[in-house]
Amino acid sequence: MLFEYSLSTPREDFRDITPQVREAVAKSGASDGAAVVYCPHTTAGITINENADPDVVRDLLFALGKTFPDRPEFRHAEGNSAAHMKASAVGSSVTVIIDGGKLVLGTWQGIYFCEFDPPRTRKFYVKVMGQR
Ligand code: ZN
Repeated sequence: MLFEYSLSTPREDFRDITPQVREAVAKSGASDGAAVVYCPHTTAGITINENADPDVVRDLLFALGKTFPDRPEFRHAEGNSAAHMKASAVGSSVTVIIDGGKLVLGTWQGIYFCEFDPPRTRKFYVKVMGQR
């Protein structure tokens, strides 16, 4: 089953979408399988990282900004090449195992929608594959 979610992203940020993914798995009724969380945008991404200390996300955004600064040499006319690079660095999707109807995530793991080119209205998909 495919589930679509939308969100508005006023600033560069990682947004915890773990609750939406859990909801999709619950609605699907799947007890064993996998969920693919996918972002159909070129300047946003999906990743899994710590959801306990918000400073981890802050440090990730800081480091991505240092790694991929805006450069006068960039040619892309839209002017958001750094956002495209950050999106490729984090990737467009994650796959999470479903076991016993629950996502198999580590204690400190959360699933994040990563916005690199705000403000936008975005969407992401959760494809649940599995057996009831
Ligand atoms: Zn662009």
